[in-house]
Amino acid sequence: MHMISLTTTIICTTASMGLAQNICDSDLTPAEARLARNRQDAGAYSMRAGPVQPVVISVAWHVLETTDGRRAIEDDELQLMIDYLNDQWETVNISFAAHPLVDRIVNDVWWDDVPDANELRSMRRLPNALNIYWAPSLEGGGLCGRSSFTFSTLDTIVMQSSCLGYTDVRGVFAHEVGHWFDLFHTFETATGVECVARTNCLNTGDLLCDTPASFGLQFTTCVDPITCNRKPGSFCNRSGPCPGDPLYDPSTTNFMSYSVPPCISEFTPGQYERMRSTTDNLRSDYANTGLHDPCPADIDGSLAVGANDVLALLDAYGPCSDDCESDITGDGQTDVNDVLVLLGAWGPCFSCTDANACDDGDPGTLDYCLFGTCTHEVITGCAVGEIPDCNGHCVPAAWVGDGVCDDGSFTHDGLPVFLNCDAFNCDGGDCICP
Ligand SMILES: [Zn+2]
Repeated sequence: MHMISLTTTIICTTASMGLAQNICDSDLTPAEARLARNRQDAGAYSMRAGPVQPVVISVAWHVLETTDGRRAIEDDELQLMIDYLNDQWETVNISFAAHPLVDRIVNDVWWDDVPDANELRSMRRLPNALNIYWAPSLEGGGLCGRSSFTFSTLDTIVMQSSCLGYTDVRGVFAHEVGHWFDLFHTFETATGVECVARTNCLNTGDLLCDTPASFGLQFTTCVDPITCNRKPGSFCNRSGPCPGDPLYDPSTTNFMSYSVPPCISEFTPGQYERMRSTTDNLRSDYANTGLHDPCPADIDGSLAVGANDVLALLDAYGPCSDDCESDITGDGQTDVNDVLVLLGAWGPCFSCTDANACDDGDPGTLDYCLFGTCTHEVITGCAVGEIPDCNGHCVPAAWVGDGVCDDGSFTHDGLPVFLNCDAFNCDGGDCICP
């Protein structure tokens, strides 16, 4: 397995290209921190009155593969990820279910490393679903995962198959999904520095009072991966940031901390409340969309409606009790109406299930099967007036030598622009190149 350096690893990032802290650039930007505070002030993070109804979030998997069939993550492991989320989110009646087809992104170059994780997680998004991308190595191997908030432009998650050498990344995965529900790091500072004494916990840090004020924990430096306790040492037992504060006493097991991956395993009630209220108030377009079950008459999961589905339906004929899969119409019983729907859906569920079915013979198109529909993407160079930058991303040609150094500080189409390489003579002299 591919080992990565502990000192340079970024466990996750959510901000676009913020200034790096020691080892992680995942803090909110100042603008995002203001948005978060506004949402909190507007009541978006407060629970609605009444019973907490069950909600299903449909997940769309995108898995990087090689032409010889190696996969960033296997299908049975994807199911373990869904099972893990369902265990963690059951408390607030949120469950997750995956679309029956996995989007397979074949790219031999990216197998070794995806240099820009945002480029991968911008591709082939299924609307109104939680889109999650998997690759063996992100941005040199130093990025375990990257997520988004409800106020981010990109609303997808990208995951590296391993993190800090750990191959069980379920905790990190829950961490990223937590961000997607507007949970912030327990050591967030863009909102303001949280005092250990909890005098300002509602308006600073992660904007929650039942997560103790925290610093970044620095992965293995501060927390023992076996006991999950803080290691003794001056850095781990540091003073609080406010006058009169006691020493920090951070949670070393909270999902939203930067404790060691095997130690992160729990959310607080306040975090659960945030996630459920975010779902109801800000992610309602993603709730109960049914995208994980696009072919309801396919009772046996064979991706086609046929004789076996009829048999399964007849077996369950009558009032539906526990197993209501055969109750296609959802009226509480399996009856002739379900038979009629089933017969009407007879045949394959999807027009394609893999890329081979989509080859149109045209070398000018990239053909793939995207969640059951053949897609033919025209392969073009850059648009008129654009050129590929140092990383091959299309950027405005006029940016070369325009007096501003493009060293990744500016973005075009959501991606950082780099013109500070020899090919552009250091951005036409705008940059100082080594
Ligand atoms: Zn994070």
